[in-house]
Amino acid sequence: MKRTTKKSNILFKKATKLIPGGVNSPVRSFSAVDSSPVFIKKAKGSYLFDEDNNKYIDYIGSFGPLILGHSNSSIIKSASKAMEKGTTYGACHKNEIVLAKLISENIKSMEMVRLTSSGTEATMSSIRLARAFTGKDKIIKFEGCYHGHVDHLLVKAGSGLTTFGSPSSPGIPKDFTRNTIICKFNDIKNLEKALKENKKTVAAIILEPVPANMGLIIPKVGYLESLMKLAKKYKTLVIFDEVISGFRLSIGGAQSFYNLRPDLTCIGKVIGGGFPIGAFGGRKDIMSMLSPSGPVYHAGTLSGNPVAVSAGIKTLEILKKRKAKLYKDLDNKGKYIKEQVEKKGFKSITINQLGSMLTIFFNSNKIENYSDVLKCDTKIYGAFFNQLLSSGIMLAPSQFEAMFLSTEHSKEDLDYTISKLIEALDNLGIK
Ligand code: PLP
Repeated sequence: MKRTTKKSNILFKKATKLIPGGVNSPVRSFSAVDSSPVFIKKAKGSYLFDEDNNKYIDYIGSFGPLILGHSNSSIIKSASKAMEKGTTYGACHKNEIVLAKLISENIKSMEMVRLTSSGTEATMSSIRLARAFTGKDKIIKFEGCYHGHVDHLLVKAGSGLTTFGSPSSPGIPKDFTRNTIICKFNDIKNLEKALKENKKTVAAIILEPVPANMGLIIPKVGYLESLMKLAKKYKTLVIFDEVISGFRLSIGGAQSFYNLRPDLTCIGKVIGGGFPIGAFGGRKDIMSMLSPSGPVYHAGTLSGNPVAVSAGIKTLEILKKRKAKLYKDLDNKGKYIKEQVEKKGFKSITINQLGSMLTIFFNSNKIENYSDVLKCDTKIYGAFFNQLLSSGIMLAPSQFEAMFLSTEHSKEDLDYTISKLIEALDNLGIK
């Protein structure tokens, strides 16, 4: 049946009158793929259903949280049960300890944990803490890594070698980003140069260990290990932003996957089972500096919200119970899509895949950092996205996002998707 968009289009028109751009987060506008937003009516398993009754196999997965798919009945039960006992207390409750323990047991470097309501709050507070602990002001971040909409982390790529960042959004005073240094991911010499040039002034290096916000980028063999060594040599802390990779790449996130131990870690998304949450944590001596045990301020009206915490506990319990098979199965699904498409011999695309995340880049070269990503053909990606949307497949709505797989994507879902991916590539004349 041909896809219709009448109701979504009417809703979008109404929304734009009240909500800037009609959306509450820019990527949902589908403007990066020359399309207009789809209004969702309901979601279950691997599927989204829109207001025009179109059904989609969903590879957005709410941008990462839904590792167990949409509307997992155990998570919903758990959240509903919690809700019956109150929606928020503004006071301590015992499940906060249960969730902190589950996080700490699985991500060993997170010796102590503080809950927040979003990933942005987690990265923002972890940086304040790193600065306070080290008594230094500068932060190194990487081109193309996204850490939420924190003022001093919202710094666009400085091209080539290390540069001081300039804000990538109006409304951020230059002074706010003066202490943000931008480096090139997967380029260890570039990082060493930055550390040398800024000796004794860098509080922390913050990175997505497996960047997923410029499309999926895979760290080169030994890169993360060398980064950790350099951080030690130059006495700077390392903050892993695992808001996406935490509990997704493995039960212990990217750090367990690569056997590394950062000083601080930020997580979110998966740990809320689809409810708003974030967390940061790490070394006890650093975390103890947080208010009220120490002087560094962090707070949140809804931090540790009992409904989100309950959904998070259930999610992590399921992941923990099924981890041996679950993460292997997810990786196999990712590999299956990559291999089946690659089999067709398209020369002008490159597929990066790790575990349940993948990106199809419209460029024939290796894609290892932000400058590589910028060489991709975003126009063709847009056309590709729209063809797949018409076939009932919801891909990432930008060349600079990853596709997310869940436990709920079936073999039939994958086979249908692969056939449509290949068909679209052929239709677009991709060689
Ligand atoms: N860090 C990373 C790696 C992210 O991908 C995101 C969001 O996509 C954030 C931080 C911010 O999280 P939130 O959107 O929950 O504020």
